[in-house]
Amino acid sequence: MGCQMTSYSCADPKGGFDVVVVGAGPAGSMAAKHAAANGAEVLLLDRKRDPGTPVRCGEGVSAAGLAQYVDPQPEWISAGIKGARLVSPSGVAVEIGTLGAGYVLERKLFDRGLIELAAKAGARVLSEANAVGLRRGSDGRIAGVRVVRRGSESVVPCKIVIGADGVDSRVGRWAGIRTDLRLADMESCAQYLIADCETEKGFCEFFLGRDVSPGGYAWIFPKGDGLANVGLGVSVKEARRRGSAIEHLDRFMERLGLSGKMLGFTVGGVPVSHTLDTIVADSVMLAGDAARQVNPMTGGGILTGMLGGQLAGETAAEAIREGEVSARVLGRYSERWHERAGKTNKRWYRIKEAVGRLPDSTLDETARVFEGTDAADLTLFKIFARIFRRNPKLIWDIRHVFMG
Ligand SMILES: Cc1cc2nc3c(=O)[nH]c(=O)nc-3n(C[C@H](O)[C@H](O)[C@H](O)COP(=O)(O)OP(=O)(O)OC[C@H]3O[C@@H](n4cnc5c(N)ncnc54)[C@H](O)[C@@H]3O)c2cc1C
Repeated sequence: MGCQMTSYSCADPKGGFDVVVVGAGPAGSMAAKHAAANGAEVLLLDRKRDPGTPVRCGEGVSAAGLAQYVDPQPEWISAGIKGARLVSPSGVAVEIGTLGAGYVLERKLFDRGLIELAAKAGARVLSEANAVGLRRGSDGRIAGVRVVRRGSESVVPCKIVIGADGVDSRVGRWAGIRTDLRLADMESCAQYLIADCETEKGFCEFFLGRDVSPGGYAWIFPKGDGLANVGLGVSVKEARRRGSAIEHLDRFMERLGLSGKMLGFTVGGVPVSHTLDTIVADSVMLAGDAARQVNPMTGGGILTGMLGGQLAGETAAEAIREGEVSARVLGRYSERWHERAGKTNKRWYRIKEAVGRLPDSTLDETARVFEGTDAADLTLFKIFARIFRRNPKLIWDIRHVFMG
């Protein structure tokens, strides 16, 4: 990390920190930035030496979405994207330009850039610092975070802990928050970085179908200069019955003639549920993947994590100013998240569940109807509307999406 503290003392600042943020991914860095910018004494820590590496992400985001949270820097961006190309199970392609422009990021530099923004806002930053538990005072209240750094353990005193520790979050469990998910709500992903890839220029490609990736989809996200992220996600439930994400990915690569061009490989999990019912406890808040704030339909969690982090950071600073860090006060974060994105995530979850039950034949039939439609005229809504008109039972399944 560029702004790593060289000497570290638990008593620094006097009386400990107001807020310790565990995890310096997009959610954690935004939480630290907004808590510090609103007057809190903040420590942002991560167990890695270089958070953001190795990259476990397709790196795709919407340009308009990103601009809501930060001023995008050129070095964070590998390639600009002008739309999405959906490929049906039998290979019929449909282009959607109306989703708006996007980016394929360079996450190494992006994550680092966000950490720097947190540091500029006044947060202290510490890498190679592994949070291993919470310390409670004699009154049972959380008094700090136990941290192991370079072989020695110490306690960092603080009033609030923000767990932004990713999909395998432990902070929530330490605080007694239930973070477990149904197997069907967890996606196991595998991805190659490949060279010499001829993609449809300027489009992120999404491949659908039960054979391609049961319970998920495959993607090709171009990074410029012939580089691309090629990956897929398989629901953990399906993976147990029908083979792992890696097996599916290798078959997909072979089918597309991409084998033998791999430069890098990564695996990772994505929570495709709705947000946890409880994301705060006394002195504790969860943000990003730790709170399951991912869009369950797309598996995209960068922007939603940034929003969760921002709201958590702002609410934490507010609670510190008011001198009360109970779950009741921190619960304002939960309300704000639910209002801004939680409700939408719940809707996407129901749509995902309904679409997941569609047979490949329906996807093929729908793709054929829209094949050749001008990308500038085609919206996801038009596609869903057609699918649901032809499948009245699905409308019944997702009636709550529209009836609240
Ligand atoms: C293969 C794959 C492809 C994806 N593609 C996309 C995509 O194209 N677009 C998109 O929007 N999303 C994508 N996602 C999801 C996205 O990567 C995550 O949703 C996002 O990174 C979540 O951010 P976060 O800050 O919550 O967690 P993370 O980015 O996971 O950061 C968590 C941080 O916490 C640190 N940490 C964990 N435990 C501790 C501890 N005990 N002590 C200290 N530090 C700790 C970790 O080192 C890590 O740096 C993809 C995910 C995968 C796996």
